[in-house]
Amino acid sequence: MRKQASSLPIMLKQLPEGDGRLSDIHRFWEQTGSFYLEGKGSGNLADPYMATGLMPVATGFYRDMTQIRFEYPEFKPENCTACGNCYSVCPDSAIPGLVNSISDVFNSAIMTIERGGNPTRFLRREVRTVEKKLRGLIDQNGEAANVNQLIDHAVLETLAESPLEGTEKQSLEREFSRLLATIGDFRFAITKPYYSTREKKQAGSGGLFSITINPYTCKGCMECIKVCDDQALVAVPQTESAVERMRKEWKFWLELPTTAPEFSRIDDLDEKVGALETLLLDKHNYHSMMSGDGACLGCGEKTSIHLFTATVTALLQPRVKSHLEKIDNLINQLETKVRMTLANNINLGDTAAFRAAIDGNKEHDLTLGILSHSLEADGPTQPLNQQWLKDITKLLDALRNLKWRYTEGQTKQGRAEMGIINATGCTSVWASTFPFNPYPFPWANHLFQDAPSMAMGIFEGHMAKMADGFKAIRKAELIIADKYDPAEHDSILTYFNWKAFSDEEWRLCPPVVAVGGDGAMYDIGFQNLSRALMSGMPIKVLVLDTQVYSNTGGQACTSGFIGQVSDTGSVWQGVERQDRNPQGNEPDRNGASHFICAAKLHFQYDPHD
Ligand code: SF4
Ligand code: SF4
Repeated sequence: MRKQASSLPIMLKQLPEGDGRLSDIHRFWEQTGSFYLEGKGSGNLADPYMATGLMPVATGFYRDMTQIRFEYPEFKPENCTACGNCYSVCPDSAIPGLVNSISDVFNSAIMTIERGGNPTRFLRREVRTVEKKLRGLIDQNGEAANVNQLIDHAVLETLAESPLEGTEKQSLEREFSRLLATIGDFRFAITKPYYSTREKKQAGSGGLFSITINPYTCKGCMECIKVCDDQALVAVPQTESAVERMRKEWKFWLELPTTAPEFSRIDDLDEKVGALETLLLDKHNYHSMMSGDGACLGCGEKTSIHLFTATVTALLQPRVKSHLEKIDNLINQLETKVRMTLANNINLGDTAAFRAAIDGNKEHDLTLGILSHSLEADGPTQPLNQQWLKDITKLLDALRNLKWRYTEGQTKQGRAEMGIINATGCTSVWASTFPFNPYPFPWANHLFQDAPSMAMGIFEGHMAKMADGFKAIRKAELIIADKYDPAEHDSILTYFNWKAFSDEEWRLCPPVVAVGGDGAMYDIGFQNLSRALMSGMPIKVLVLDTQVYSNTGGQACTSGFIGQVSDTGSVWQGVERQDRNPQGNEPDRNGASHFICAAKLHFQYDPHD
């Protein structure tokens, strides 16, 4: 039986229902996830997910870490400089930074009010006056401004000056109080990079910066507080009212639009906001890892992987957007070509036959089919090239299907931006603790050492699919340009594979990434990694080099320090860490990473070779 919508976790409500097959996160929630959240995971009947060890993507969405936190980071906007350290370091994607224009904030609040069943009559017009007043007040108060208080002032002033009277004024008052209640305690900072500097360049262009805690994924590790040099985050004991407030603020964060591209173009490096910090301001990039998984508090591996996935997502998003425009364009041009070919079949030169056909059908509606039929009755017309029509409609289907895969697919969430093959180790354990999956893209795990080999196999299959899409595009381009010659092009297209991809096509390929620790890549799995390097196959390899063989108790590993004290190593036993290197220098490393990088450069596949 379908569960009531009210019992769905808030984050799950954000996702569209899929097609009900195994990849549908809503089906997984009903069949498996909800039982775990109710503490009945072991009493659950066997289902296809448990039987096959499959999980849909991003099931970490279900998790709620409230019970494992004793303290939480509280945002002090008056101290914030928007440096980005906190949201870059957080391992649990739990503290996103966001920049919104004032009008976006007000519009989001109004839409929330209206969706809650309270239509507004005056609010949309009146918030324009509030915004003007608010900007004036911010200018007076500078970067230490308390934006929430200033919004209150601006609303009160606007209300006092409103020419409305009687019941209309009461309605406006009610609408304003709903606006203030919806924004609530959600805190905004006035910062140099996103407000003051922009306002100096162009009045009205400054945006409000916010830092919001996701109470469902924050584990209370306090790493964000450690890296905040401006005392804009403080550790506060968690109370019931604090949890309620965090949930309300998070709900409002979900309503706010993502950071607009104009706020992501920071061109002054002295503002100390770099590319990484700005790309993370995009909600989609930030949620390239959903978290809600079983990693330890403050897990550095997760931070590293999150920065990697966010960067890949940020690179692919604009490429896919322009590729979709290209596909749309090709579909339109092909459709026009088919229409023109069909219309050309009608002989417009014989106008007398044309008029006679129209007159012969004046008793009923005239369709193109009837007209064509009548003209044919008067004499033979040009026969249509049936094979050409069949081919071109098949091609149109392929292009439409390609667009569907990019924008919807079985999950209704479009095509994934990458895929990970994870070596067994810490990263595979926390990323696959049933039923919580932190990744919003395909992920698989095999034996400790196999990730690069498995990535090579998946890469071949994945690139065959990519090649199918590119073949359809290449063929459409040739047909539109009237250059398609089956004798010349069919065999090229039949054997087309990733080695023949153009640079533009390469840039559209979601990377296949082998992820593992130094033990999995440099020790036990080295033969697999060396084979992948030798093959020249352009898979990506991400090594989370912890400089120790962690999963079996901490032996020395190939990428560790020379003379390193490891749990099972004998050198330096009993010597304090700070005394291990008498010269005070960084101890010598075994240098596996340097060797691998050098080897990779040497064997780099060049598609133009
Ligand atoms: S306390 Fe830890 S998990 Fe929570 S927001 Fe800060 S860094 Fe992220
Ligand atoms: S680290 Fe501190 S100053 Fe920097 S963005 Fe986060 S809260 Fe603001």
